[in-house]
Amino acid sequence: MLRLYDTKARRVERIVPEGARTLRMYTCGPTVYRFAHVGNLRSYLLSDMIRRVCERHGLRAIVCQNITDVGHLVDDAQIDPQGEDKILRQARAEGRSATEIARFYEEAFRADAAALNLRPPEYTPRATETIDLMIELIARLLEKGHAYVVDGSVYFDARSFPTYGEISGNRLDTLKPGGDRFESLDPRKRFHADWALWKRSDRELTWDSPWGRGFPGWHVECSAMSLRYLGDRFDVHTGGIDLRFPHHEDERAQSNAATGHEVVAHWVHGEHLLFDGRKMSKQTGNVVLLRDVVEAGLDPLAVRLAMLDHRYRQQMNLTWETLRAADRTLRRWRRRVAEWAEHPSRPMAAEYAARAKAALDDDLDTPAALRVLRELERDESVPPGSRFETFLELDHLFGLDLSRDIGAAPTLPPGAAELLERRERARAARDWATSDRLREELAEMGVKVADTPEGQKVVLD
Ligand code: AMP
Ligand code: ZN
Repeated sequence: MLRLYDTKARRVERIVPEGARTLRMYTCGPTVYRFAHVGNLRSYLLSDMIRRVCERHGLRAIVCQNITDVGHLVDDAQIDPQGEDKILRQARAEGRSATEIARFYEEAFRADAAALNLRPPEYTPRATETIDLMIELIARLLEKGHAYVVDGSVYFDARSFPTYGEISGNRLDTLKPGGDRFESLDPRKRFHADWALWKRSDRELTWDSPWGRGFPGWHVECSAMSLRYLGDRFDVHTGGIDLRFPHHEDERAQSNAATGHEVVAHWVHGEHLLFDGRKMSKQTGNVVLLRDVVEAGLDPLAVRLAMLDHRYRQQMNLTWETLRAADRTLRRWRRRVAEWAEHPSRPMAAEYAARAKAALDDDLDTPAALRVLRELERDESVPPGSRFETFLELDHLFGLDLSRDIGAAPTLPPGAAELLERRERARAARDWATSDRLREELAEMGVKVADTPEGQKVVLD
């Protein structure tokens, strides 16, 4: 059984699904106004790993992940009381329509997710296509006395939900105005921690509602969609750690207030990805996209492997060196799997497989599970056919395409052929210093060369 750290309970808990054979999980999805960076992708890998481990336990996973294509405001729009929508701002910057922007980046997100072997969620509702669900939910909250209308805008009354703050520890009596910068400054609110469910506006991307024309607040979409697609009790809710507050507190308040009970059994958060020591973000300016990794000649799954080498709950610092090292490991494993495939088939190394799976069950200890794989790779007492079976079995969980090179001729990493040629020329010119330097460069790429009387030969290890 999978155990995960539950942010609200503040301890590791067993994930026992409400519907005995089905895991229902909601994952806060992307705001589609730009390419997702690999930091964003780390938080979706968390949800993918939970799904894979649960499926191994014989559960069917039903995952809902929203596409935010309206309502997410640029957070430091303090001067403008209406705030500015991220999608609309980008549409203006690129000279395209809001819908073009949203669909373009949604498609790019799907491509990135596929390149990282993230299993597609069962439901990916768009905010602009679920406005009616949000209006229904807001109406219910008004009816139950958890919300109020001012000038055609609707606000959630935070003080009507006594357990506000249980996920993050940000209780209402200790919260200071300004925690949620833009929201706090809205003068129409009764209390600084209240938030908008519906914002009156006649800008682009607005809809008619019982309270007048406007658009939904960002937090309300996740409540409306999860209640609709997963039901009013579901098992796991995931997101990046920065979503704990206010996004998840507000979502929990909306969903619980509407239903009258606790909707989400476990809140699970992934820690941040740092790059060169600082949180990866557009503001910091240290954004790396999956396409940058591919352009550097690396396999996109090297990103997946580098991330799996850190537990989701630890901050992890990524560097180009880590990515290159992960890429070399991937190539080596695929080559070895292809070699082992040539040997007689043998049963799986059950003890190794069980240890790796136990590590994953233990709050997704992926680094420990990968250590088991590395140990097995080196264990010459295990027959090759058996190592083959075990690697493939565990790859269902790791998702690293380790069987990709089976039956293929050994391939050289990009750039290696050119270095080999240059080395041949250097040797012909008796330039031993260059020849040695090139041999080292090749070794760093995982390509060993041996000098024989017939010339240099590549030794793939
Ligand atoms: P966004 O598209 O900006 O709404 O963010 C999508 C997801 O990425 C959210 O779950 C964030 O918590 C997460 N996120 C943003 N930056 C990072 C980072 N540097 N490392 C890990 N997750 C992040
Ligand atoms: Zn959300």
